[in-house]
Amino acid sequence: MIDLTAPASSSAPDLWTWLFYLLMIGITLWGVYIFLIAPIRKKRHILESIPYCPSLLLPQLPIERDKVIQVASHRLMQLNYRVNLFRLTCTCLRFRRFRQFYPENDIRRLCRHLRKELQNSGCTQQYDELTRGLIASRLRDACYVRETLSRSEMIVGFHPRSSIVRIYTYRKSQIDPQGGPFTGPVDKFTYNHRQDVWVYGEPPPNSEEILMVVDKLITACRARYPSPHKLPQRRGETLPTPIPATEAALAARERRERILSASRSTTPLQKP
Ligand SMILES: [Zn+2]
Repeated sequence: MIDLTAPASSSAPDLWTWLFYLLMIGITLWGVYIFLIAPIRKKRHILESIPYCPSLLLPQLPIERDKVIQVASHRLMQLNYRVNLFRLTCTCLRFRRFRQFYPENDIRRLCRHLRKELQNSGCTQQYDELTRGLIASRLRDACYVRETLSRSEMIVGFHPRSSIVRIYTYRKSQIDPQGGPFTGPVDKFTYNHRQDVWVYGEPPPNSEEILMVVDKLITACRARYPSPHKLPQRRGETLPTPIPATEAALAARERRERILSASRSTTPLQKP
């Protein structure tokens, strides 16, 4: 006869124990992905992108800057990173994992600590205004190109796989003529290439000319980039509701497409 009052056998784990095991396995797999697989994949993407993505080189700072400076972490105040402005190196995790693989003096080497220290030490005064404007922003793009416009200048930041383009150029001041040159402060303007809309605010002055240059630039870079059909959609592309396209913007887009298709039929933008 079975004794129902006897305690359950302790050899078989109960449901809670199994859930605990599953949770532990999940946390371990998550940790392996976040701390091991994801950094390896990102490093591989960076190394692969270097031959295809143009960038900007910063002018070399004087040799007196070849020294180690302690910079406090913005998250953990008791932690200091060692930064060298001459060599553009830092001991933070992001620099060691990713940014150090960019070439010497490449602007993409600048982690948060290098950017802050360059600004605090006054070294950015040795750079031009557009470069200073770019450094004041977070450097998050794979490609940077500097372009001269008919009455202005800009730096374009983008990734061949992403439809988000960041443009750093001068704002129009009150005394500037309508068509430029523009003497306002350098600002960042964000453009969604796929949706053909400016997001986060008004377009830059002479936006029509800027977009024609951007179209050519991105088309050429995407044509060079390897296996675009195999590349997954980049995360973080979704932005808040863009400014709705006005009739004027739509007309400008049609005009731009007409001009671009005419230029494509005569001058190939990119060799295959
Ligand atoms: Zn750093």
